[in-house]
Amino acid sequence: MSYTKMTHPAEMVSDLRNSFSNGVTRPLEFRKKQLENLIRLYEENTPVLLDALRDDLNKSVQESMVSEIDYLKNDARNMLYNLSEWAKPKYAEKGLINILDTVKLLPEPYGVVLVIGAWNYPLQLSLAPLNGAIAAGNCAIVKPSELAPATAKVIAELLPKYLDTRCFKVFLGGPSKTQSLLAERFDYIFYTGSTRVGAIVAQCAAQYLTPTTLELGGKSPCYIDSTVDIEIAAARVLWGKSINAGQTCIAPDYILCSQEIEMKFIEAFKKVQKQQYGDDLKSSPDYCRIINSNHFNRIVGLLKGQEVVHGGSHDASQLFIETTICVNVDPDSALMREEIFGPILPIIRAQSAAEAIHFINSREKPLALYIFSNDKKTVDIFEKETSSGGVCVNDTIMHFACESLPFGGVGSSGMGAYHGKYSFDTFSHQKPILEKSIDKFGEMLQSVRYAPYNEGKIKA
Ligand code: NAD
Repeated sequence: MSYTKMTHPAEMVSDLRNSFSNGVTRPLEFRKKQLENLIRLYEENTPVLLDALRDDLNKSVQESMVSEIDYLKNDARNMLYNLSEWAKPKYAEKGLINILDTVKLLPEPYGVVLVIGAWNYPLQLSLAPLNGAIAAGNCAIVKPSELAPATAKVIAELLPKYLDTRCFKVFLGGPSKTQSLLAERFDYIFYTGSTRVGAIVAQCAAQYLTPTTLELGGKSPCYIDSTVDIEIAAARVLWGKSINAGQTCIAPDYILCSQEIEMKFIEAFKKVQKQQYGDDLKSSPDYCRIINSNHFNRIVGLLKGQEVVHGGSHDASQLFIETTICVNVDPDSALMREEIFGPILPIIRAQSAAEAIHFINSREKPLALYIFSNDKKTVDIFEKETSSGGVCVNDTIMHFACESLPFGGVGSSGMGAYHGKYSFDTFSHQKPILEKSIDKFGEMLQSVRYAPYNEGKIKA
């Protein structure tokens, strides 16, 4: 893998296309070997990976292991374990007309795929799609985010040591270099990042009608009613909003609740924050930092004019922002228009589930929707009357880690999905195949379709 030796996009793509055309990635044994190598990469380089994540985001060991390194290892292991089964043809149901035929779907690799990652989970978001691309038998270029430079550098240094460099390459660079890459023809593009850039990627893909998965963002609402234990709800919301300092695509973006719940929630939030992070969040080794000063200034800017009832402190020299709750928030303010992507939690009053649903449905479709309620009817109505990439009831983020569920957005929060088997499917074309026998008996049964047409043939 030669991000140093070969950086010209056209040359990289042509090299990969040769390898794909020569069938290098097709055998299952090859794919399995590459997945094993990736697992070895994670195992043998854990300290280096942890250092890079600490450098980029001050990620704690716990967060880095759970949400990046172990996550990737388990994902690759799951693929390794199931690949032979997933890659088999799937036999489809047959109607009378095909009773003597074989009707099946054969997963085939697309070819040369491009994976563009985001900076917030810089390892996971570049390499989890790569797991899927490898399992499905593709060649791939990985473009990690330039905004997490330590992790991007480690990816570029390590992947060539573990993967077959004829088939897998790393490309480093920011927006303009990425656009030069996007000018090339790919067979599939898998993009994770903002909705704005997702539209640019989709436009580039359109020139060659390249299929894409777009894993985008949005404002994920969190409804809380009076039927739940408010302290448990607060602990789970705090966790979802504080991991990676709120820089998580499915962090609960804002709370929807009644005035009565609002007061109880704020008190419970303060209490559980103390339990989880101690009296001084800033000195907690478990709390991340904001990725860079641009994002720091953007997030702090969102607080302008807001009524802060908890937290609010920040320190530019350390890129630290305290978890902060705002109330009486204007739904048209920047805080409620933009995805926050930081540790600020606005509360919007909704006196009933119906009011909350109306609010959610008047906005773009979110990536995740959280409902805290023990009332089955309330949960049901949210599930049926709102649209979002996914839903998690009585918790936050955890649906992401459920490998039997696909993860992805809908509308402006994205298109397509992955994780587990869905990653394999995403990077495979499910080719429908009809196999017929060619013999006199079959021909006699089917000859009704041939001219000359007559009444009897129509009835048959
Ligand atoms: P971003 O869109 O700025 O960047 C993502 C990638 O796109 C980077 O690799 C970057 O180099 C590239 N890029 C940036 N500008 C480009 C341009 N003009 N042309 C071509 N490529 C360009 O996103 P980000 O700031 O890295 O990530 C934050 C956003 O991503 C948030 O909205 C978040 O919700 C979303 N996100 C979504 C998921 C998901 O799985 N759905 C996961 C993480 C982040």
